[in-house]
Amino acid sequence: MKKMIVTLTVFALLITAMMISASAKDWRSGIAWTEPPKVTPAESETPGGAPSDAIILFDGKDMSAWNKEWDVQDGVMTVKRGVGTIETKEKFGSVQLHLEFATPAEVNPRQTGQGRGNSGVFFGPYEVQILDSYDNTTYFDGQCGSFYKQRPPQVNVCRKPGEWQSYDIVFNRPELNVENGKVVEVIRPAFVTVFQNGVLVLNHHEIEGTGFWHRPPAYEAHPAELPIQLQDHGNPTKFRNIWVRKIQDDNTKPLRTREPYFQEDEPKK
Ligand code: MG
Repeated sequence: MKKMIVTLTVFALLITAMMISASAKDWRSGIAWTEPPKVTPAESETPGGAPSDAIILFDGKDMSAWNKEWDVQDGVMTVKRGVGTIETKEKFGSVQLHLEFATPAEVNPRQTGQGRGNSGVFFGPYEVQILDSYDNTTYFDGQCGSFYKQRPPQVNVCRKPGEWQSYDIVFNRPELNVENGKVVEVIRPAFVTVFQNGVLVLNHHEIEGTGFWHRPPAYEAHPAELPIQLQDHGNPTKFRNIWVRKIQDDNTKPLRTREPYFQEDEPKK
C-alpha cells in the first residue's frame, strides 16, 4: 500500500511538471529594442587594436585630432615642455577609451610622489591619474590608476618606468540639473571603470564631482559633451595608440511600446 502511494505521488508530480512545461511561454519584455549595429573587431590579435567604429585620436602619425602639438616621433607622442595640456578637437559624452602610455624611463630620484611621471586623462573635469607608481609612493587616491583624489586603484598593476602600459576606460557622463549656471540636482552621477594593463583597477566608481587639488570634489555645471584632455604636468610622458568610441549612457531608458507579454508562436530553443 505504502509503495503504491509513493508510486502515485511520483506519477502525479511528473504529470504536473509536464503540464507546467507544456504551458510555459516565451516571455518578452515589450521593450522596442533596436538591432545592435554590427562592428568589425580589430584584425590584429594584439589587444588594444581599434574596432571599426572607433574615432582615432592618435595613430602614431600626427596630432590632427588635438588642439595643440606635442613631439611626435617613431609613432609616439611625448609631452612637450611649454605646450601644456592638450585636448581633443571633438567633444565627447560617455565613451570607451583606449590609450597606451609610458612614464619617463629615466627616473630622477629628486622627483618623488606626484612629481614623478605625472600626467592624466581628463573626461572634461574628471581625471584618471597617470603617474609613475612602480616604485614611488604618494597618497593612494593620487597614484596611477586612481580616480584622482577620490578612489585608489583596486590594485597597483604598474609596469616599470619607460615600459608601455595600457588604459581601457569606460566613462559615463553625469546628468546634471543646472539653473542659472549652478548645479541644483545631480540627476545621475558620472561613473568610471578602468582596466590598467588588462586588469580592473576602478570598478564602476561613482564620481563625486569635479576634482580639485585644494578642496573636496563637487559637481559643477558643464555641457554634456566636452573634450578629452591629456595633462602636461611637467614630465615627458609618452603616448601611443589612442582611440575612443561614443557609447550609450548607462541608464538610457529604453522605449517600452507595450506591456511585457508571452510570444505564442516562437519555437522553443
Ligand atoms: Mg595628473
